[in-house]
Amino acid sequence: MLRNPAASIQRLTSYEPIDRRFRLPSDCTDVFTSVKPSILTRRKFMITGAAAGAGGAAWLSASSSWGARFIRQRFEEIGRDIPPAPHKPTPAAWSDNAVTLAWLGHASILINFYGVRILTDPTLYSRIGVDLGIGTLGPLRLVQCALTPDELPEIDLVLVSHAHFDHLDTASLGSIRGLPAAVMATETSDLLPRRHYASVRELRWNESATVTTPGGEVVVRALEVKHWGARIRRDTWRGYTGWVVEREGRRLLIGGDTAGTPVFKSHRSFGPFDAAVMPIGAYDPWIYNHCTPEQAVTMADAAGARLIVPVHHQSFRLSNEPFREPIERIQEALAKESDRLALREIGQTIVVRS
Ligand SMILES: [Zn+2]
Ligand SMILES: [Zn+2]
Repeated sequence: MLRNPAASIQRLTSYEPIDRRFRLPSDCTDVFTSVKPSILTRRKFMITGAAAGAGGAAWLSASSSWGARFIRQRFEEIGRDIPPAPHKPTPAAWSDNAVTLAWLGHASILINFYGVRILTDPTLYSRIGVDLGIGTLGPLRLVQCALTPDELPEIDLVLVSHAHFDHLDTASLGSIRGLPAAVMATETSDLLPRRHYASVRELRWNESATVTTPGGEVVVRALEVKHWGARIRRDTWRGYTGWVVEREGRRLLIGGDTAGTPVFKSHRSFGPFDAAVMPIGAYDPWIYNHCTPEQAVTMADAAGARLIVPVHHQSFRLSNEPFREPIERIQEALAKESDRLALREIGQTIVVRS
């Protein structure tokens, strides 16, 4: 019988920065890539088969390696229901004369930016991970995406911050209605299902582009963040980025995936920002690639953002921190200015006032 994986997961007992000893050799892409098929000869297979049967089961049940945990978590997911998102956005009712956004789950944000419909890092299906053709091998959602692909409006612009599986999901990118433009991090557009897109452009940090869409023009600028771009470990040439989107004199900062970094102070010159969409989860043990909720607030403050839209939590189990810890920590961090916390739960919608 498999040991309960939860028992081997260390619960943080304080909100102190995580000790260096928890640093692992790669980043969150390990969640998907640490299980590698090995090629065995038939003889080796016969010799090692029996041992593997017993030893493999022991390894699987006892090992704290990411490979063993990955498999245990997939077993644990068998038969698990995915609860619906607590809120359901109604984008058909949104005004084209406002900035309205909804958190669909993980890093997926749907924005109506004065009539331009923007979608960030879409992950719309029940799993993310390696596309096997017959399905996806990777984590099952903890909560359903707030809108299905069929429930989304036609999209004008899709932003993809980097190629990690929890941000660049090829199935989701191939399901977007409306022949949108795509703006992506450098060296990632080879993964885009191109025929579904009117145009595709990659931006380097500090590059900007004016994107013309059926809904109007929007200016997109790529921003430096502190993260990592490889999708399968060795493709380290791939870029990773945050964004500024600007239209009608209004601006949103979209943090992508980032660790804590002072570079957000330099982003202030591209503001002022009505809101910053900031990742707040997956910091344990990936603290060198993902910020804590407190760091997310510090960075949004450094950039001069008025509202904070927390994302990258409550959606997939990619790390060790408890499900509700990131949102509780950011609520605590913003306790004296709670009106800056734009939303708390998947599916919530806000109209960003000027
Ligand atoms: Zn990432
Ligand atoms: Zn991520």
